[in-house]
Amino acid sequence: MPLVAGYDAIVIGGGPGGSTVATQLARVGRTVLVLEREKFPRFHVGESLLPFNLPLFERIGVAEKVRAAGFQVKRGAYFWNEQTGGVRAVDFASGVDDRHPSAYQVKRADFDELLLCHAAESGAEVREETEVSRVIFEGRRAVGVVARPRDGTEEEIRARVVVDASGQQALLSCQLGIRKFDPKLRRAGLFAHYEAIRWPEGQRPGDILLPIDRGVWYWIIPFSDGTCSVGEVFEPPLANEIAGDAASLEVRFEKLLDRSPRMTEFLAGSRRTSRVFGISDYSTSSAQAAGEGWVLVGDAATFLDPVFSTGVFLAMAMGERAAKRIDRALEKPGTVAAADLAPYAKEAKQLVGRFRRFVYAFYDPVFFEVFCSKDPFDKMRASVTTILSGGIERIPLMARVWIELVFLSVAFDRFRRRLGLGPKAEEAAA
Ligand code: FAD
Repeated sequence: MPLVAGYDAIVIGGGPGGSTVATQLARVGRTVLVLEREKFPRFHVGESLLPFNLPLFERIGVAEKVRAAGFQVKRGAYFWNEQTGGVRAVDFASGVDDRHPSAYQVKRADFDELLLCHAAESGAEVREETEVSRVIFEGRRAVGVVARPRDGTEEEIRARVVVDASGQQALLSCQLGIRKFDPKLRRAGLFAHYEAIRWPEGQRPGDILLPIDRGVWYWIIPFSDGTCSVGEVFEPPLANEIAGDAASLEVRFEKLLDRSPRMTEFLAGSRRTSRVFGISDYSTSSAQAAGEGWVLVGDAATFLDPVFSTGVFLAMAMGERAAKRIDRALEKPGTVAAADLAPYAKEAKQLVGRFRRFVYAFYDPVFFEVFCSKDPFDKMRASVTTILSGGIERIPLMARVWIELVFLSVAFDRFRRRLGLGPKAEEAAA
């Protein structure tokens, strides 16, 4: 096997996480190689971004290119709790931190290609259609990768740091046996693209629409070319129950859509323009996000359930932080120690932790009922909106207090229900 001389860093995967690390390292003059197994543009799920992605675009120097791409502007989200009739409009402009009142809805084929080209224009070497089959270790230290281009040959490529940004494949944490599923978030998703969806009257154009009905939450994400992404998320046994064990993805998808009167109404007269894609058991995390000479970024490190559209933001935020720590570690001569990269692992954990609590809460019927109630205090609403915009890096003190009060009021509500002073949680969920 030919051995290729070393880079400062090798990045496995050219999604948003990988492109961000590569861009930031290249911009400070590091030699970076990105190995991506697909040929871009390629389809990918995860099309609704958060407002706090925008300052991140500025920081990595891609904001102007994103603006020029003409993606659909998104100003918020709209949730329907079909069981209680409650609704919740999330308006990003009304957050406590209202500096970033909008985000984008993006076709990931275009968005990811834009980010990967930006990494290349920033100085990273990008090789598409090149799969990494494993990370090479010497003792506990990652020293490179085995890469396989399309012609089937293999080469060993060395680097001082290996970054795994391979998304759900989580190549390195699987290799190390440190990947675990989150049993509280065992869910599956089915999704496809549509055309000719008539935008529902009264709904603000560009928002993500999220009806939640008997154990399934659905999304409609509108794109600037008039097409939409449509998806559904559910506990896997439900699709078997409704469509039968042997049903195709298409049949499962259609049957779950038919189950929702609101989705049926929204999709009347529309046409599906892609095949149906499916994914399950995607909420995972790795026991460790960094070690001797290696770092995990984005879904390869941790992925939370997608209900609050946090995936791309987290992958890029991790990518930015990883690049900073790697650059600092590379300043020292010799090998990169686990201790040099440990601060990144801590930061990545903190970032994800700030959203995790809300994701768990979403699946708690009592919390969700409160979330969709008519009159929460404005301050509570604004504080939660800031988190849902991605404003987790510097949460203002008062917003933290209001958020704690939200969770306290849910705990109090649950207690009341236990005493028989309100509907039981199961009734709220029914
Ligand atoms: P990815 O975007 O997956 O990129 C990884 C890249 O690595 C891919 O291009 C892949 O081809 C490449 N790769 C993999 N293995 C190898 C290998 N061995 N060698 C070389 N290359 C390799 N997020 C949002 O922000 N908004 C949403 O609305 C949203 N909706 C979602 C809905 C569902 C149902 C799911 C499951 C996820 C959703 N997400 C959403 C999450 C989002 O898709 C991910 O969090 C995001 O793509 C993570 O970026 P990444 O760079 O870590 O990984």
